[in-house]
Amino acid sequence: MALLADNIEVLRARSKAVLLGNYNRQPVAFTHGDGARLWDTSGKDYIDFCGGIAVTSLGHGDSAVTRAIAAQASRLMHVSNLYEIPEQIELAEKLRDFLGYDRFFFCNSGTEANEALIKLVRAWGKSRGKSRIIVARHGFHGRTLGALSATAQPVLQEAFGPLLDGFDAVDFGELQSVVERIGPETAAVLMEPIQAEGGGNFPPPAYFKEVRNLCDRHNCLLVLDEVQLGMGRSGLPLAQDHYGIKADAIALAKGLGGGFPIGALAIQAHLADVLTPGTHGSTFGGNPLAAAAATAVVDALAMPGFLADVNTKGKFLLTAIEKLQSPHLSEPRGLGLFVCFTTPDPARLTAAARETGLLLATAKHNAVRLLPPLNVSAAELEAGIARLGDTLERLN
Ligand code: PLP
Repeated sequence: MALLADNIEVLRARSKAVLLGNYNRQPVAFTHGDGARLWDTSGKDYIDFCGGIAVTSLGHGDSAVTRAIAAQASRLMHVSNLYEIPEQIELAEKLRDFLGYDRFFFCNSGTEANEALIKLVRAWGKSRGKSRIIVARHGFHGRTLGALSATAQPVLQEAFGPLLDGFDAVDFGELQSVVERIGPETAAVLMEPIQAEGGGNFPPPAYFKEVRNLCDRHNCLLVLDEVQLGMGRSGLPLAQDHYGIKADAIALAKGLGGGFPIGALAIQAHLADVLTPGTHGSTFGGNPLAAAAATAVVDALAMPGFLADVNTKGKFLLTAIEKLQSPHLSEPRGLGLFVCFTTPDPARLTAAARETGLLLATAKHNAVRLLPPLNVSAAELEAGIARLGDTLERLN
């Protein structure tokens, strides 16, 4: 296959000639993976702590996920939401048990899950005279225009105005900022439980409990974007579980499909009648193939001890990073297998890590994220930590 035979320079030239220039791609292409390992077109191996940006929750080539996909693909890939889809129903039942939400709508990505969330909020608020949504500065909710309007990062929004009206930005983690903004016209507060793309920003421990109370007092919804931190990444089913709160509705995607594209809106029962027939939909969302892939992921995450292991491995990784002494690593922080640190030049560090055979994900505000598969082995973790140590030495 020409695709695999080409070296990276040839691939880059072909890519530049035919693909939109909207990505700043790194000079590497991968041919195959196994667990937390990837191999590039030259045969070099990598420890993958980028995980397709928190997507490959069970690593590459997980046997249960690939078996489920292969079996479903040969049986039935797609019908339509015009019909009952048994695989989708089964996924929703399993998610209900795993997450504690009552109803689900399936789509194909994080941004679409947030579009559904925003529409839910708007429809709920309509009869109550509430339309405004409080969001957090440096949050990230996706690239489509609704989700982008909720993404209070001017640098991402600037080129695309006028955006959707009705979003009020506050400072993340600062309760007073919400107190000053919230009012009778507020339909919801929409935030990530931990800001991921925005820099690995953790709110004070009591913040979301207070925000939940404020929402209840002002009769508005609390809706959370769990696209990156949800589905076990934090060591509990949802990141909000660490705060002892329950949002009225949440957006999910990324790790939900283990690499297969799927997103979801999950709601509490009291919102079940808000989006009535014809008000929202998706051609592909929750088709039999996507549902089968996600069901295999949920089955794995719900196994006894799985999430306890995520916590143990996350603590091991964070402790190991805390021990690395380097001017290129400060403020190590994390929850479960969402681990971050700060570095003066993230692009330089990730390039050096790639040379050393380690893939990392950058974020805003000089943050670097380590996002191993949730079932990463001890040997893979140790290899990744060793390669990070080598990378830091190269940079010193
Ligand atoms: N929400 C959060 C918290 C995210 O991290 C992302 C992607 O990084 C999105 C939404 C958008 O997801 P997608 O790229 O699947 O549309």
